[in-house]
Amino acid sequence: MKLNFIYRKADDIKSWKRYNNFIEKHGNVWGIKKEIKPIIKIKKAIFEINVIEIVNKYKKIFGFEIKNIKGRLVTTPFSMINDEKGQSVDTIYYSIYTPYPSIVLAHELFHIYFYHFGGYKIKNYEEAKEYFTVILNDIFNKEISKGYPKHQKIREKVFKVWQKTHSIDECIKAVEG
Ligand SMILES: [Zn+2]
Repeated sequence: MKLNFIYRKADDIKSWKRYNNFIEKHGNVWGIKKEIKPIIKIKKAIFEINVIEIVNKYKKIFGFEIKNIKGRLVTTPFSMINDEKGQSVDTIYYSIYTPYPSIVLAHELFHIYFYHFGGYKIKNYEEAKEYFTVILNDIFNKEISKGYPKHQKIREKVFKVWQKTHSIDECIKAVEG
């Protein structure tokens, strides 16, 4: 499976708005403040990223496959999805400032699958979607997800349950207690 990415100015503006709103509300992104010099101006972009290995793993874990995920290249410091209520969640806003494409794709795709798995029905979803990425370290046998400073304790808990059960449901149950 390949994801197609294009640049659209309107989407870039939208992702900056979302980013700025988030920073205004929280001061940082769950404890991380990433400063970038916005030195890149994208004029045109079209490319694809092969995500077949990632998607094959998620199919097994979540029990379904999501097709028709859209890709947009953006100039924000972070890559993201837009999972605000009422938005179409199946778009990855891929930051041109990201150094590691596979890691970022694994992270954002995980968010999309997690959203379809339970979304806002999961307690504290906005943060849960971040601390659940700890299981990526097991799925990909590598420490690719360090997580946000604020979430370290709960990530340990999720990871322990995941190693025992390999079930997202069990992990959700454990943290919702
Ligand atoms: Zn994230």
